[in-house]
Amino acid sequence: METKLTPMMKQYLEVKEKHQDEILLFRLGDFYEMFFDDAILVSKELDLTLTKRATTKNDVPMCGFPYHVSDSYISKLINRGHKVAICEQVEDPKLAKSIVKREVIKILTPGTFTDSNYLNNRDNNYLLAAFLTKTSISISYVDYSTGDFYVTEKNFLSFDKLLNFFVDEFYKINPSELLINNLDDKNFKKILSKFSCYINYYSTDQNIDLEKYTSDLLGKNILNDLKDLKNTKKITDFTSINLLLNYLSRTQKISLKHINSMKYYDLDEYMSIDEASRRNLELVNTINSSSKSYSLLGVLDNCKTSMGSRELKRWIEEPLKNKEIIENRYDVIDSFCSDFILLDDLIKKVNKIYDIERLCVKISNDTINPKDLISLKLSLKNILDLKQILSNSDKEILIKIADQIDPLLDVIKEIDEIIIEDPPANYEEKQYIKRSYSEELANLFDISQRSKEWILEFEQEEREKTGIKNLRIKYNKILGYFIEVTKSFIDKIPENYIRKQTLVGSERYFSIELKEMESKLLSSKDEALDLQSEIFSNLKKDLSNNISKIQNLSKTIAKIDILLNFADKSIKNNYVRPHINEQGILDIKDGRHPIVEKNLQEENFIANDTYLDNKENLIHIITGPNMSGKSTYMRQVALISIMAQIGSFVPASQANIFLVDKIFTRIGASDNLAQGDSTFMVEMKEVANIIKNASHNSLIILDEVGRGTSTYDGISLAWSIVEYIAEHIKAKTLFATHYHELVELSNSYDCITNLTSQVEENDGDIVFLRKIIEGYTDNSYGIEVAKLAGINKEILLRAENILDSLSKKKNFDVNLEKEYIDKKNLTKVNPELEELIKDIKNIDINSLTPINGLNLLNEIIKKVSDIDDN
Ligand code: ATP
Repeated sequence: METKLTPMMKQYLEVKEKHQDEILLFRLGDFYEMFFDDAILVSKELDLTLTKRATTKNDVPMCGFPYHVSDSYISKLINRGHKVAICEQVEDPKLAKSIVKREVIKILTPGTFTDSNYLNNRDNNYLLAAFLTKTSISISYVDYSTGDFYVTEKNFLSFDKLLNFFVDEFYKINPSELLINNLDDKNFKKILSKFSCYINYYSTDQNIDLEKYTSDLLGKNILNDLKDLKNTKKITDFTSINLLLNYLSRTQKISLKHINSMKYYDLDEYMSIDEASRRNLELVNTINSSSKSYSLLGVLDNCKTSMGSRELKRWIEEPLKNKEIIENRYDVIDSFCSDFILLDDLIKKVNKIYDIERLCVKISNDTINPKDLISLKLSLKNILDLKQILSNSDKEILIKIADQIDPLLDVIKEIDEIIIEDPPANYEEKQYIKRSYSEELANLFDISQRSKEWILEFEQEEREKTGIKNLRIKYNKILGYFIEVTKSFIDKIPENYIRKQTLVGSERYFSIELKEMESKLLSSKDEALDLQSEIFSNLKKDLSNNISKIQNLSKTIAKIDILLNFADKSIKNNYVRPHINEQGILDIKDGRHPIVEKNLQEENFIANDTYLDNKENLIHIITGPNMSGKSTYMRQVALISIMAQIGSFVPASQANIFLVDKIFTRIGASDNLAQGDSTFMVEMKEVANIIKNASHNSLIILDEVGRGTSTYDGISLAWSIVEYIAEHIKAKTLFATHYHELVELSNSYDCITNLTSQVEENDGDIVFLRKIIEGYTDNSYGIEVAKLAGINKEILLRAENILDSLSKKKNFDVNLEKEYIDKKNLTKVNPELEELIKDIKNIDINSLTPINGLNLLNEIIKKVSDIDDN
């Protein structure tokens, strides 16, 4: 069969053989063509006509699109989660001895694509690499479009915990593409099947000479970061970094110099928020629509730059635990808020700064154009003004920020000297270098310009000489310049005209004079364009030496932008500066839910106080009617803690907070039928996760736990969960429930208090006051709420009837004293110790490397001493 293929098809198949994972775009003349299955797939995805290419054997399915409009087609393919390999002609067809040589020059993938049709300015686009063993995980991820590169690693005693950690990190990072080793484990495979991004599997670690790779491929600072991580032993496992760099070098066959730093992150430095809580609290997306508008990010993000918005998202996803850094942010916001004019001036300046972070990738891979450079220059000029305003302030903290800003005066000066103020979009054939910068270039462009004028003059002269009024000088790519005369004037053609082409209604001619001028015109234009592009290349080279400075600057601007935005929000939304205490007290006066209050149109939001401490107010059992605001109240406490720990002011009249290490929420009913989990199973899994991971510095929000099963099962579970938290975890907990029996717990535990949301009854109707006060209710008013919701009268009457007879029979008796004593005896075994023993039993010795073994031993010793301390 081989012999029957055309040489071109043979070449295609050879290339395709090496690119099974990607759609191969094969360059034929002015088109990218696809064949076989690629053609069938792409014709469907892009709605293109599927044609056939005849070969000596069978016809082959084929489709294609023109090269010059390829960007939008490729964007669509990447957007739909495909990878695309671009195979170009790599030699001049005129010089080719046989078939033109073709090679794949780059591979475009969801995690590395930088086209502006594809990227969302306000979002990062991450490529994540993870390498898992049964006890350790190595994680690294990069945003190719900004150069941000983060790495971390962690050891675990149990694979379940490792998987939980991985899932939380995955959803937090939210990558477009994942590189991962393939483990033979059912749970691992189940988890990966839920991820919607593009997944590339590797069977083993990609062994490479990391230092060589890093220094050859990436920015010059990164090698130092790598060595530093090694020396300080922050990173001992480089498997995911290997995967990532190997993949980047295989797919991006161009410079990666803008990837210029590798940041280690230690998750213990941030508040931990698991995946379910992130979703429940709607931090960056809403649960139902995955849109940003009604999320915390939606309310807080009015950043003026894309860099600010991207960084703010990161802040919200990783609230801090470091008091000093948080208070420093508060101090800056305070300084901004104390001077409205200053705030306004600074916001106006920041508003004029472009996304200079994403310009760095264009500098690095040589796709930056003159217009981008003007954007860079204008941004730097505004940054210079911003620096000036900050340093003129009388606040020391703002002067310090000004000192951190390097507005890159040399870069401003150089671009200013070289590039004209309004360069053309299609710049390659036009003039964009200032006349004042190069006399030689100005002269060359002048000649080319004068020649154009000469052509016009020549046309006029020839008309007069020949008396042919409609004689025209025209240009096309094949003939160059020519004289065109309609057939009616043929008898007036002078002798020195040389006929070149005959059309239906006209004739085309050359003259020696015209051709001489043409060659002068074209050569001066070519020379001018060559010189111009040489000047531009030198400028780009200078800029590439400044990439890391521009990146540092963009991070500083992002931070200033966020803090200005926080200051502006705190004034407009009436937020206050929190105080941070170290006594574990959470004392909020007139707290409000930041999202609900923004979206309430008719009614005003009713503010509520919260007081939690380590004594009588450790746990609040909240009862109250449906629809009375219990969930909103609990979420608002969690959101205020998160806002405070990202450094924002908060919606309250006063807030005294402690630094929460982990937030857990179990809110709402949802099932996961696709993964085989019922509503109740999901609920219990979330609770199990909370119980396993919460500490006494955590904040737990439980909304109606136990509701998905029979009443007695539900009450019993809810009851024992609260007891366990009160006795063992001692985390601040808000627990809303319709099991009114739970209010009895406050009789047995000093640390439990009952709260209720107030309602008024008015002629059989209820009015929600939405005030949370101490006390409890034994009525959920479910039937009244059903009435409000429009359930018909017949059902309501019957329900009232049934409720009446059930209440008379009601005999739920928990026999508190007896059960309590039994339970005390039962819980003599330390649950943490039990868990540790279980984890140790599950260790699979055969899958451990010596280094994993040592790390694991270290982890066990740490756990044992933690248990001992408690
Ligand atoms: P259920 O027990 O049925 O789950 P709930 O008591 O948890 O109800 P929420 O879901 O918190 O009640 O609130 C119900 C509605 O009341 C929401 O639409 C919310 O917008 C509004 N609401 C809640 N709290 C307040 C408040 N403090 N001020 C004004 N409106 C509020």
